[in-house]
Amino acid sequence: LRLCSKNLSQFRGVEVPTYQRHGVKQGIVHIGVGGFHRAHLAVYVDRLLEQFRQQDWSICGVGLQPFDASMRDALAPQDYLYTVIERAAAGSKARVVGSITDYIFAPGNSEAVIAKMANPDTHIVSMTITESGYYYNENTHELEADHPDIVSDLNGQGPPKTTFGYLTAALGRRYRAGLRPFTVMSCDNMQKNGHITRSMLLSFARLRDPDMASWLEKNGAFPNSMVDRITPRTLDSDKASLAEDFGIEDSWPVVTEPFMQWVLEDQFSDGRPSFEEVGVQVVKSLHEVEEFELMKLRLLNASHSAMAYLAYLAGFNYVHEVVADPLFNKYISNMMHEEVKPLLPAIPNVDVDQYCDSVLARFGNPTLKDEVTRICLGGSGKIPQFIMPSIAEQIVRETEQSGSGPLRRLTLCVAGWFRYLKSVDESGRGFKIDDPMSEELQNKANEGGKGPNALLGIRSLFGDDLRGDSRFVGELTSAMDALYREGALRTLERYA
Ligand code: NAD
Repeated sequence: LRLCSKNLSQFRGVEVPTYQRHGVKQGIVHIGVGGFHRAHLAVYVDRLLEQFRQQDWSICGVGLQPFDASMRDALAPQDYLYTVIERAAAGSKARVVGSITDYIFAPGNSEAVIAKMANPDTHIVSMTITESGYYYNENTHELEADHPDIVSDLNGQGPPKTTFGYLTAALGRRYRAGLRPFTVMSCDNMQKNGHITRSMLLSFARLRDPDMASWLEKNGAFPNSMVDRITPRTLDSDKASLAEDFGIEDSWPVVTEPFMQWVLEDQFSDGRPSFEEVGVQVVKSLHEVEEFELMKLRLLNASHSAMAYLAYLAGFNYVHEVVADPLFNKYISNMMHEEVKPLLPAIPNVDVDQYCDSVLARFGNPTLKDEVTRICLGGSGKIPQFIMPSIAEQIVRETEQSGSGPLRRLTLCVAGWFRYLKSVDESGRGFKIDDPMSEELQNKANEGGKGPNALLGIRSLFGDDLRGDSRFVGELTSAMDALYREGALRTLERYA
C-alpha cells in the first residue's frame, strides 16, 4: 500500500502519526533533508507532536542542491510522510514519521524559501548541510570569501546559492520588519558547530548587509550541539524489505540504529519546543556540549574515518564486516584507547572505556548495512576535524612530557586517506573520489607520488605546523610507503 495520509489507518504492525498535520504551523525550517535529519531532529519533533501535541513546531524542509529534487519528488506524493526503520540484531521496528509537513525545493523557488524563513511563525532554521556547506577554512578559521558560490551570493545578482545567502536574505527581512531573529541551529558533525555557524554567517552578513549583521550579532542565537545516530544511505533492498515486512510502499524510507543522542546548548532567540521532554539532553553551558562533542568526534567519527580508507583499499563493502575483522577491530580499539582517550577530559558520569566499547558494538550491528563508501565521503571535511587535532595534541604532549604521545595509528589513517586519493584501489581498479575538493586532492595526490608532501601542502586543510614536524612527516611517509609496498592488510598487521 502506498504511503500517504489517506492510507495511514490501514497499515498494521507499524506506528503511524495520530496528530494533526494539516493547517499546522511550521516553527522549524530545515535545510538539508537527508538521511540524518530524517532519522534525528525530525524523529525528536515527531515525538513532540505525537506525545505532547506541540503542533506549532512541525518542520518545513528545504533543499538547496539541484540533486535535492529527488527528495521533493519522493516526499511530496506521500504527503511528506516517510518510514524510519530501526534495525537491531534482535529485529526491526518501523514508524511512519509525520513531523515534516512541507518541503520547498529552492532552485527556481528562492522567494518561497526566503519568505518562509522570514515568516513570524518560523522560530528556528536548522541545518544538516555537511561540513562543506559552511565554507569554513580549517586553517584560518575564516569564511572562504573567495569561493565562487560565496562570491556569487555576495554579489547578490540572481537567487542565492548558499545557506548563508538564504539566511542573510531572510534575516534581513525580519530585521527590517522588527521581528526577532530565528535561531540558527546547526545539526552537523562539527566541533563547535554553533560557533562556526555564527562566525561564518556573521562574516557573510557583514559583507552583504552590515546593519542586519550588527543586529544579528547582538540578538541572534546559534546553539552548539552534539548529534549522534548512525544513518546509512537507503538501499533499494531497504525499500523492498519495508514493503515485504510491513506492507508499506515508501519511495525513500530511512534506515537507522536504535541508539540516538542529541546534547543541545540552551541558546534560542525566538523560543523553542520542550526538546527535553523527548530525550534531548538540553544543557545550560557550552562546556557540557563541548565535552560530549569532543568525545564523540574524536572517538566515534575518528574511528569511522580510520577504518574507511584502509577498508576500502582492502576490499570491504560494509562497516560491520570491517569491525568483525580481528585486525581492524584491534586497530580501531587500540587507536581509541591508546592514542585518543588520554587526550580527552573526563566527563562526569561517563565511562570512556564503555563508550569505546559501545562504538565498536554499534559499528558491528550487522543489520544496518552501513557502506564503507559512505564513510569515505568528504574526507576533506572529516580528517582535519576528527583525526588531525588528536595528532597535533599528541605532538605537543611529546614535547611537554618527552617520549609520550603515540600517534602511529592516527597517522596510518591519514596515510590511508592519502593513498585512497590516488583513486586506484589495490587491484588496480579506478574509482571516483566523492569530495567537494576532489579535483585539488587528486591533483596533489598525483603530484606527490608516493610521498605526503604535496597533499600536506594544502594549507586550508593542514595549516603550517604539522608539515614542519619531522616526527609526524616521518611516520606518515613510512606508513604511505608500507601501504604502497604491502597493501592495507599487511600494513595493518604491524600497526594494529
Ligand atoms: P545525505 O547525503 O543524506 O544528505 C545531505 C544533505 O545535505 C542533502 O539534503 C544535501 O542537499 C545537503 N547539502 C549538502 N551540501 C550542501 C550545501 N553545500 N549546502 C546546502 N545543503 C547541502 O547525508 P546525511 O547522512 O543526511 O548527512 C548529512 C550530515 O549530517 C553529515 O554531513 C553530518 O554532518 C551529519 N550527520 C550524519 C550522520 C549519519 O550517520 N549519516 C550522523 C551524525 C551527523
